[in-house]
Amino acid sequence: MRTKPAFLRFLRSLGSLGLLSLLPALLPTPVLAQESALSFQATELAPGLYMLEGVGGFTGGNLGLLTGKDGVVLIDDGLPPLTAKLLAAIGELTEDPVEFLINTHVHGDHIGGNEAFAKKGATIVAHDNLRHRLLSDGITTPAGDVSAPEDALPVVTFSDSVTFHLNGHEAFVFHVERAHTDGDAVIHFRTANVIHAGDLMFNGLFPFIDLDSGGSVEGYIAGQERLLALTDEQTKIIPGHGPLADHKDLKAAVAMLKDSYARVRSLVEAGQTEEEILAANPLADYHEDWNWSFITTERMTKTLIRALTGE
Ligand SMILES: [Zn+2]
Repeated sequence: MRTKPAFLRFLRSLGSLGLLSLLPALLPTPVLAQESALSFQATELAPGLYMLEGVGGFTGGNLGLLTGKDGVVLIDDGLPPLTAKLLAAIGELTEDPVEFLINTHVHGDHIGGNEAFAKKGATIVAHDNLRHRLLSDGITTPAGDVSAPEDALPVVTFSDSVTFHLNGHEAFVFHVERAHTDGDAVIHFRTANVIHAGDLMFNGLFPFIDLDSGGSVEGYIAGQERLLALTDEQTKIIPGHGPLADHKDLKAAVAMLKDSYARVRSLVEAGQTEEEILAANPLADYHEDWNWSFITTERMTKTLIRALTGE
């Protein structure tokens, strides 16, 4: 049995949850306030380049932080109630404000702090489709869906890629088409051999593939294979969720997903209904290692069926 990170234990305690993008609404302030032990832990992956992850409970997706004389770059910004704690954690690593904020995708557990960071002067950078989606869908709050505040919107968007040359690092930010959503960005620190995969990687967990936000299983697999081609034995991968990953972890994740997709495909092609496929439980032997409260084995199977049948 793998060691599961703390946030999974926390999530499990909350039972089955809805869409990950609804987490800010599902984790109201009282729940978070009880978790007074929530904080961010930094791991330095290369000079001035850190992974920030939540400890003591669920703080949203894993973050990346690049510091140095040329300015601070933050990748994703977690859940809005935790912005003060995140600022404190960043303050331990640098006295400078966040100059650029890169959004890996539209979900609220990754970009919930956008407005707060923009108000402090950060320039938000994201894929074109992320801005479109924020404008069309708004954001989810405990009070319901509302229009995205002006400050939460990216002000620099790109269609294919953009490269940052800062602090002795080269950060190649590129779009992966229709994978976790339709506005995903991956950040490859080429010289440091570090990748921030956003939610193109859930380390040791069944992935959430958001078919309702333009994601696709085939795009997700293609995206992971593209990432895999960039890695070697030394590559450090910041996953959207789960502990720091490496080449082997990514390879295992792609192999699991490809195999799961093929298993479900053969049942769909044999004419089985969703009920019959769920009863057959084709992913049963992946359950122990990959099941978690948000994407259970059943939910993973349903996503694969839906991707294959278009229903
Ligand atoms: Zn996500």
